[in-house]
Amino acid sequence: MPEQQKRLFDDEPAPWELDDQAEQWVATVVFPTGPPGEFDYAVPEPLRATLKAGCRVKTPLGRGNRSVTGYCVRLASRVASRQLKPIHQVVDPQSLLSPAMLRLTEWIAQQYLCPWAQVLEAVVPAGVRYGAGTRQTTVLSIAPKAQGRLDELDLPPKQASVLRVLATAGKSLTPGQLAKAAGCTQAPITALRRKGLLLGQTDRVSNERTDTEPPPDRESHLTLNPDQKKALDAILAAVNSGKSRTLLMHGVTGSGKTEVYIQAIQEVIHFGRQAIVLVPEISLTPQTLARFRSRFDRVAVLHSHLTDAERHGHWQRIARGEVQVVVGARSAIFAPTPHLGLIVLDEEHESTFKQESAPRYHAREVAIARAEAENIPLVLGSATPSLESWRHAQTGRFTLLSMPRRVLERPLPDVGTIDLRERSHSRHSRGSISRPLHAAIRQSLTDGGQVILLLNRRGFSTHIQCPACGHVVVCPDCEIALTHHRTEEKALCHYCDYEIPAPTECPECQFAGIRYSGLGTQRLEAEVRARFPDVTCLRMDTDTMRARGSHQRALDAFREGRVQILLGTQMIAKGLDFPNVTLVGVINADTALHLPDFRASERTFHLVTQVAGRTGRGVKGGHVLVQTYSPEHPAIQAAVRHDYTAFAAGELPLREVLCYPPFGSMIRLVLRGSSEQITSESAAELARLVTESLDSTPPGTRVLGPAPAPFAKLRGKYRFQIQVQGPDRDVLRHAVRIATEAFRPPEDVQWIADVDPLDMM
Ligand code: ADP
Ligand code: ZN
Repeated sequence: MPEQQKRLFDDEPAPWELDDQAEQWVATVVFPTGPPGEFDYAVPEPLRATLKAGCRVKTPLGRGNRSVTGYCVRLASRVASRQLKPIHQVVDPQSLLSPAMLRLTEWIAQQYLCPWAQVLEAVVPAGVRYGAGTRQTTVLSIAPKAQGRLDELDLPPKQASVLRVLATAGKSLTPGQLAKAAGCTQAPITALRRKGLLLGQTDRVSNERTDTEPPPDRESHLTLNPDQKKALDAILAAVNSGKSRTLLMHGVTGSGKTEVYIQAIQEVIHFGRQAIVLVPEISLTPQTLARFRSRFDRVAVLHSHLTDAERHGHWQRIARGEVQVVVGARSAIFAPTPHLGLIVLDEEHESTFKQESAPRYHAREVAIARAEAENIPLVLGSATPSLESWRHAQTGRFTLLSMPRRVLERPLPDVGTIDLRERSHSRHSRGSISRPLHAAIRQSLTDGGQVILLLNRRGFSTHIQCPACGHVVVCPDCEIALTHHRTEEKALCHYCDYEIPAPTECPECQFAGIRYSGLGTQRLEAEVRARFPDVTCLRMDTDTMRARGSHQRALDAFREGRVQILLGTQMIAKGLDFPNVTLVGVINADTALHLPDFRASERTFHLVTQVAGRTGRGVKGGHVLVQTYSPEHPAIQAAVRHDYTAFAAGELPLREVLCYPPFGSMIRLVLRGSSEQITSESAAELARLVTESLDSTPPGTRVLGPAPAPFAKLRGKYRFQIQVQGPDRDVLRHAVRIATEAFRPPEDVQWIADVDPLDMM
């Protein structure tokens, strides 16, 4: 071969050389900061033993070969198609993720259109990545050449004694620990290291012991009622089958679901396996945790207030198999349990299981994937299952477990409605508490009961509604409430951009006082204080509950009876168990009903049902009053009758007609920028690219928008959205991936893609 040519291909072997080239170890690396995509590197001989998939590595990147940290996601011996740069250094002595967890992160990346490295950064807590709560130190061990022949060495007595102490210790010690154990200074240790009889190695040791809380008093098994027993048997059958299965436990509030979870977990840990229990962050109350801690020896609780060091400590204990039950919010689904036996996801309909920043995963979907990968059952529990899960139960993909009764024959509370339309004709109706609700509050307080008032303000309620007939102005194409834009006096559909001038009279009954609604918890608190001046009242919403621990303090005050009326947003609707609450009042059930969101009815049904479940838990019983402009609305009617099945039966056909989830999939693209015009143009461009890449796709696939997002302007940025909808999620994902790869927005415009979005604002 001519010399000349050989030099031309200096760093790349000539193509004809490749055939004879031997296989080599190739590491595939992804970078959290740096270019997207996967990059191959050569693994130099000395690193071969330490490097495993799931370790971080330092590698040269780009023309300048700057050293960048990435994750090694794959390791294989193969012939490379070109000469590869070598890895510089292996950062982690052990893999951060098991092969199964690594595959799960790849699945999440594909599923949610997010770079793999970004998923890895979300899955491995920062405290683990940076070794929080540990420090690097040198540990000493006896050199192999000296092992077993300490007596043959001719050493000064002090040095010989150091070696003997280390040999009896049976493990590596730091120089400090060794000097202390041998009762000497560092001098003999240094001498032994110089002679090569002691070997030093860097290692990470923990600063503190993350000890578990002392177990509270043991609580014994409750005897299950027949419904609970049936549910438990079905779960145990799934556990023993050794196959993956998702079971949907539909049990009314107070039907004893948690007790079933606990007994199922007891069976699983009996076989030396672990369980993960996912609950909404807000349900991680001392009350809930005490129930688990009283039944299991080793519980790890993963909540958002942990320090990095605490999180790291838990992670290590879980990975070593020392924890039986991991209880935590969304991200606990990534707990590195070595032999997982069961996953429970309680309140599965809760939207907090979806992460609202990248990776925008839904913990329920990840749990399904993880349970499948580990061949174990997953139990989803709810009084008001998501329509997605309900649909799967109907088609047989999930197994349905029903617990339609409360434990101990406790009745479900009576729910009544108060029609707000009747009040609007009276000139004297002021404020937001109607006369019948006022009277009921008074009665409850007189009887020594407590009251919960719910106002689901969710910041945003600008639908246009007639106070006389209750009619809500909706988009003729999307059946979504139009949003009132006060500045231009327009009414807009935030799905498809349909637009009309804001009506001055009701299109239905011609009442001239049509208006947009809006009322906050703060105003409600003032009204309650004015109406009941002698009563202690407490407001709970994100504004008053900022400080750490304030949530718990408020609940304690209510539980102990120091507060008679608790009012607040949906924060108070969930999971609380107060036997003395005899009245729940819903100030305006319609606030969630007319949000520009296809799940508005479902949310309203959930909310009213959940808050109703807060009463009637004690011997005094309880009832619920729901104020509404739409008492005949199917969601409210079904909630009044505690009839989930009827609600789902009415709602699903509506979803099916428009191909909304669970019948179709959706990807929401949101663009934001400081110039309205440029952002809008970029959105149009992206919509065009998506439409193009959807060429010849199944019928029912459509691109909606761009339209202004319901929050059309946030923190000074204009926001536009595009919705890609259709029956086949893979088709949508593929189209969006192609489109976004080709999309080159101006510097100032940012975009996100949300697969199966829950947040439509
Ligand atoms: P859910 O999770 O469905 O709301 P829980 O499991 O919290 O219901 O049960 C509600 C209450 O009933 C709890 O106080 C629990 O201790 C009690 N309970 C559950 N199962 C039984 C049972 N089989 N016998 C007696 N009490 C029970
Ligand atoms: Zn529309």
